[in-house]
This record gives sequence, C-alpha cells and structure tokens, in this order.
Amino acid sequence: MSDTLTHCPNCGAKLTEHPLEVTWCDACDWNIDPNEKPPAPGSLNALATHLNEKHARALRDDVLAHPEARPGRDTRAALAILFAVLIHLPVLACGGMGLFTVVRFWPYIIPVLLGVTAVATALRLLINIDPVPKGTLPRAEHPALFGLVDRIAAEMGVRKIDLIALNPFAQTSIGPVGFPPRPLLTLSYPLLFTTPPQQVVALIAGGLAHLKNGDLLRIGVTGNAWTLLFRFSYAILPASPPGGRRMPWLTLLATIPLRIAASLSKGLANAYYSLTRLDSQRAAYLADRLTARVAGAQHWSDFLADDAPSVAVLNAAQRLAVSANPLDKKRGYIDEVRACLQAMSPRERERLRRVTLKAGAFANSSLPPTQFRVDVLNALPRTAPPVVWTDRDHERLQQELKPLEAAVASRAIDLYREYIGA
Ligand SMILES: [Zn+2]
Repeated sequence: MSDTLTHCPNCGAKLTEHPLEVTWCDACDWNIDPNEKPPAPGSLNALATHLNEKHARALRDDVLAHPEARPGRDTRAALAILFAVLIHLPVLACGGMGLFTVVRFWPYIIPVLLGVTAVATALRLLINIDPVPKGTLPRAEHPALFGLVDRIAAEMGVRKIDLIALNPFAQTSIGPVGFPPRPLLTLSYPLLFTTPPQQVVALIAGGLAHLKNGDLLRIGVTGNAWTLLFRFSYAILPASPPGGRRMPWLTLLATIPLRIAASLSKGLANAYYSLTRLDSQRAAYLADRLTARVAGAQHWSDFLADDAPSVAVLNAAQRLAVSANPLDKKRGYIDEVRACLQAMSPRERERLRRVTLKAGAFANSSLPPTQFRVDVLNALPRTAPPVVWTDRDHERLQQELKPLEAAVASRAIDLYREYIGA
C-alpha cells in the first residue's frame, strides 16, 4: 500500500491511515480484505463464486421460511448417499475377494498373505478414523471444564463427552476418533481465556450440536467417499522427476491414461463435494438453532461475528515463534494474546467484523456464510438460556487450565514455526 494514498481509489472518500494496520475505506469497504483476490470478471471462477453465493442465499431464505427442515431429505442428498455407496463398492469388492482368498486357499502362505493384505487395505480405506490423540484431558483433574461440557450435553440430550483435547490456536472442532469411534471435542485453549463466559457456553454447544443432529455419521459416510476419490486421484498420478526436471516425453506419453483417470477422479471429487455442500450448510443452520437454544442466540452470533480474538491468537503465536527465547519472557502466551487483542484499534476490529460478515464470503464451504448464520440467529425468539456460566464459574475454569499454559504455548510455537517453515 502506498504511503501517499489519502483518498479511496474506489469512491473518493478520505482514508484514515494507521502505520501498522490495513488501509481501507469505511464508506465503500474498498480493500477491507487485502488477502482476498476476487476472481477475474467473466472467468469460470467468477461464475462459480456467483452461483455458490446465489445457492447459499436461497438456502438461507429457505431456512428462514422452514426452520424445522432437516438435512439429508432432498434429491440432492439422496444422490450424494447413492454416490457414496457406489464409490465404496470397489473397496468392498476388494475386501470380499481378500476374505474369499483366505478361506479358499487356507493354509497356503502366499495366497493367505495376499488375502489378508486385501482385507486390511479395504478396512483401512473404509474406516478412515484417526486414533485417539495423546494429551486428552483426564476427567478427574478438570472438574470445572468437564462439568460445563456435561451440563451442556445434558441440556442438549447428547451423551457425555469423555475425550476433550486443547488446540493451541483458535480452532474448535468435534469428530470421531479411535475404534470403536468416540467423539473428541477439541477446544481452543487461548479462546477459553479471551471469550466472555456465556460465549464459551455457545462455543462448546456449537460443537456438541453436531452430535445431536447425527452429522458425524452423515459426514463420515459422505466425507469418506470424497477422501477415497481424492486419494485415488493422487495415488495413480506418476511421481514427477526430482529437482524440477522435465519428464521424458515417452514416460509422459505412457502415463496419459493415468493422468486422465486422475483428473476424472479429482473432478468427480469436486462434483461430489458440491453435491454435499448445501446439505452440510443446512446441518450447520440446524446446529446453530440448537446452540442458540442452550447458550442464547445473541451470544452465539456475537461469537461468530467477532474474528478479532482468532486474529490476536495468531499474532501472539507469531510474536512468540519469531522471538529468540520465547518462553524466557515474563509474559506468558495468554498475556501475549490479550496484549495483541488490546493493541487492535476499534477501526481494525470493525474491519475484521466486516470481513467476517461480508455477504457471500466463503459461500463455497461446508458452513454457510457467517452473515447468513447471523441473519438466521437474529430471526430466533430471544429466550433465556438454560445453561448460564458466570464470571465466577469462568474464573474457576481458567484457574484449572492455567497449569497447562506453558505446554500449550510451546506447541503453539512449534506448530507456527512448522507452518512458516522455520
Ligand atoms: Zn471507498
């Protein structure tokens, strides 16, 4: 950005400049997100962006008109499931043949080994679930955290969560791990210290709501089909020669069928993704409604619309990661996050809010655009939430988690350094 820019090149309004922050126009939103490059007008990408936004908007209007509609009940969703079954068929066939080989040729070592390998490969492809990670929190040592999660689970009518892990950045997620699969709730450690108490209830409820709606199984089946297609497209692609050398033309010619198959498979994966996308978005609206009922609609929409804490977390991790002796400092990770949050001007926070709420932003995602989620939450009746978390409760929770800060900080530093390739 040039230092001499004093007026908006888009609408001519006077610009306010800050030496450390993005220069943007609050009259017309010019340059509110310098990282985002809009697709060239008339390109295929521009068309896709336009269609994605149109579909996301239509879905929001439909959800506003029919708030009770559940995902997975229309033609598109049925097609997605059918498609998922078809994609799994070759894998099932491979496993079946392996089993047959073992039984038929027992006890001859070579066919039995081949059969066992086929069965193991098929199982590995079908059950695509991560193992239980190290470092999940022991229930006995964290009564305040587990107590809160239990209360929310009971209010929602989902079973108790026994696996909770902490993320050193701003991500919160829920997903199955281990065998037999159990839900793992991953909470952002720094956000537990910077988010107001009632929004923390919303944050946890937002994760648990997906359990209630059966999203994990649905996403598991359709997501696995997508992963299969995507992995296949990479597995069959011949490796490029090292050092950026060009492939001999004969090899290139010989691998054309493989390349075509890989592109087809990737194209299929993308088509499949768009088939399931709106269904996932509908599931997210449903989860939002449940979250709002348990934690309060206003608290959930306030949390969704405020991206400043997440940005502060990344800034803090960066500061620690690039300093020579990050953990020698007197200030800990959470102090650093708070300092980064405080250093943000109100104007910068307003810019982040506008970026988060830009209509149509991230329409090509399994979550609806945040603005649309806020629209739907705003239309809900304002009722008193059944789970109330006071400042005192929250202080107790933070004291319980405080001893983990150093370990979380060093993971944040390691991951950040890995991310920037240091
Ligand atoms: Zn302007």
